[in-house]
Amino acid sequence: MVKKIIYNSVLFITSAFILLTYNACGQQNKKLKPVDPKSMARINIPVDTLWTEKVLKSDDEWKKMLTSKQYYILRKHGTERPFSSELYEVKEDGIYVCAGCKNPLFSSEKKFNSGTGWPSFFKPYSQKSLHTGTDNSHGMVRDALSCQRCDGHLGHVFNDGPDPTGLRYCIDGDGLLFVPRQPTIAVATFAGGCFWCTETIFESIRGVSEVISGYSGGKETNPSYNSVGGGYTGHAEAFEVYYDPKEITYKDLVRVFFASIDPTTVDGQAPDFGKQYRTIAFYRNETEKKIIEDRIKEIAPEYNKPIVTQVIKFEKFYEAEEYHQDFVKRNPNQGYVKAESIPRRERTLAKVKDLVKKNSSN
Ligand SMILES: [Zn+2]
Repeated sequence: MVKKIIYNSVLFITSAFILLTYNACGQQNKKLKPVDPKSMARINIPVDTLWTEKVLKSDDEWKKMLTSKQYYILRKHGTERPFSSELYEVKEDGIYVCAGCKNPLFSSEKKFNSGTGWPSFFKPYSQKSLHTGTDNSHGMVRDALSCQRCDGHLGHVFNDGPDPTGLRYCIDGDGLLFVPRQPTIAVATFAGGCFWCTETIFESIRGVSEVISGYSGGKETNPSYNSVGGGYTGHAEAFEVYYDPKEITYKDLVRVFFASIDPTTVDGQAPDFGKQYRTIAFYRNETEKKIIEDRIKEIAPEYNKPIVTQVIKFEKFYEAEEYHQDFVKRNPNQGYVKAESIPRRERTLAKVKDLVKKNSSN
């Protein structure tokens, strides 16, 4: 599954002027393709409204992490063709987030059918959603909208919208991702040595919709693979598991976690050693902490050395570089993957057969 990257942008165009250029926001009757519920414009992530840091990247970095459509809209001030976005006709309950940084931008309750061909809203999600600036392009003066967190271009706002605001936020769907409100997705975080290995294990577990590789457990902000590998950031290679609690419990995820590691090895999981490969079970509340501690008590008699897996309150998770995501799936013939990751996954899944996805091919 492709994570974090979603695709869709939005542009707002507007008003009478624009008709000249794009026939934009005018009424058209083109048929849209039916929306594929598995489409890449949908994502299951927790909606974070409490962010404090901006997401700033170089043009090269954006180019790598975004699809060409997203990049065109968000970073090049592009405009999608009207009626081209699969989010245009979506009416489901959910939140529209920035495809670049996942900042929540709009909710479905504030969406309306403008007939323009661009997803349209009458109010942004929060005060932290948008920045409004002046756009003098195409011989017009318009209020351009960008994402407040990553400065990605999104569209324009016009004053011909419906009550109660009278505003029409005309957005490029290619700059957005849609997060449906259902099902409810929960998140758990662990560190179990090499994240290539642990990601592929948990993606094979039922009820898990996504696993993201990254860094956690240290203090340095925005760590990279190189800085974490240097061993001085305090971070460990970690991963976040997005799961449906109706299908799998946190307790079962903890069971999979301990089945996937040797909890007695200090600072490493063979063949990888160093502080960044230590094992950690992160908890978000006292209930999760107790579940972890109970599991450690249960399995302790199986080992003749003390269990050294850390039990730490979760603070912050940093996504790893894009090329580390889905690494095993994308590089099945890589030497380490063949020699370590795949055998480790098969060993682990054999211990938790009752929790493995049916028809799991990874
Ligand atoms: Zn953004």
